[in-house]
Amino acid sequence: MKACNSESPTPKSTEISTVGPAKIANPIAFGRFVEEDDAVLVNISRRTVEGNPKSRKKPEHIYFEPAGPRDKIYYDPSKTKCAVVTCGGLCPGLNDVIRAIVMAACHEYKVPSVLGIQYGLAGFVPEQGYDVVELTPSFVSRIHEFGGTVLGSSRGPQDPEVIVDALERMNVSILFMIGGDGTMRAAATVVAEIEKRGLSISVVGLPKTIDNDINYVSPSFGFDTSVETAAMAIKGAHVEATGAPWGIGMVKVMGRDAGFIAAQSALSCQEVNFCLIPEDPFDIHGEKGFLAALDERMKRRGNAVIVVAEGAGQDLLAASGKADASGNVQLSDIAALLKKEILEHFGKQGIEATLKYIDPSYIIRSVPANANDRIYCSFLGIHAVHAGMSGRTGLVISRWNGRYVHIPMAVVTRGKKRINTCSNYWRAVLESTGQPVTMKND
Ligand code: ATP
Ligand code: MG
Repeated sequence: MKACNSESPTPKSTEISTVGPAKIANPIAFGRFVEEDDAVLVNISRRTVEGNPKSRKKPEHIYFEPAGPRDKIYYDPSKTKCAVVTCGGLCPGLNDVIRAIVMAACHEYKVPSVLGIQYGLAGFVPEQGYDVVELTPSFVSRIHEFGGTVLGSSRGPQDPEVIVDALERMNVSILFMIGGDGTMRAAATVVAEIEKRGLSISVVGLPKTIDNDINYVSPSFGFDTSVETAAMAIKGAHVEATGAPWGIGMVKVMGRDAGFIAAQSALSCQEVNFCLIPEDPFDIHGEKGFLAALDERMKRRGNAVIVVAEGAGQDLLAASGKADASGNVQLSDIAALLKKEILEHFGKQGIEATLKYIDPSYIIRSVPANANDRIYCSFLGIHAVHAGMSGRTGLVISRWNGRYVHIPMAVVTRGKKRINTCSNYWRAVLESTGQPVTMKND
């Protein structure tokens, strides 16, 4: 599940900015500092000159900077104030990341204050009237046991000037922004405003996406928990499907542009017969369409389990014409369309299919993180603190090839990660479901 459909980075584009030279000895008591010549390989590029495919250039090695503590830091810990904000939709692990940031800042660096900004970027806007929360180790010690975010979250545009005004007023040195693609774009505008004012404030992003669709973040935190929770719903759908004559269980999962949750949970269950994702368009009617394949399965086996990502088959529906406060287009309801078409299809043959539809989306978003995600989130939070204390800014913390790395915000927001339907990964999904390679008529 590596990044695809996205522009590759160049050596220059993986460089990380700093707010100034790091001159203070790092006070942390144990562990190994990252050597400045250490690097994590992204790929080896053999770019060609445009228009001449034979003109192979000397291979260029592209690296990400490894995350971790540096021997010299920029901020004087005793005079450093941090702030944390969570934006966008909920995702398992948000509280774990907040907790890890607070614990690392307070225990490892002895930073005197970490502020929690409530309800996303709106929390910076004085007119909204949201209080700032003092995040102490005792305040955060048990928050990982709960889903959601203790800080609350929101969508909707906020002026970067107002945000930086608030950071200046509160005397914040390092801002940790936890959120999705929109949040990382917002973070880039905050970094630009800070630079414009010539301030020494670091902004570190922690990329969150339940859809697992952020570039060079593989996988995103909370994804493992989401798959595990979706798999429980699929198991329920399978029990329903096998427990009734002409039984069909249908589960809708998240995945606006990328069907990773649908595909991964289908693979994990091996009980799914149709996995419908945004990357693989299908027809409903016609000889090769979805209903023909479902009809064949039902007449052969008497039951079927369908997993559909929310963004699948959007070309079959009228556009909703609606958007959320952040401008994200509201998707049309593919599951409702499938339900209607399936029941009509069998009804016309005098067959009364029993279709049980399960939408576990809000349960998936709100459960506490599982063990794997807890561990992952704690490393992300700790590395974010190391990056911020070293004076790095405009970056996100990610895991790449099994190592934690720093990636410039501009690289992760350049495109979205999607399932490559020509990959062995997607082929494995098709093999596990047994669905046709394509359900398109042409
Ligand atoms: P999710 O994974 O839930 O979609 P997200 O971070 O993408 O998370 P959004 O609601 O799109 O969620 O964005 C979060 C915040 O970032 C919002 O306050 C939004 O207004 C702001 N934002 C989104 N896109 C931009 C942008 N291009 N420039 C500045 N701010 C943005
Ligand atoms: Mg988003």
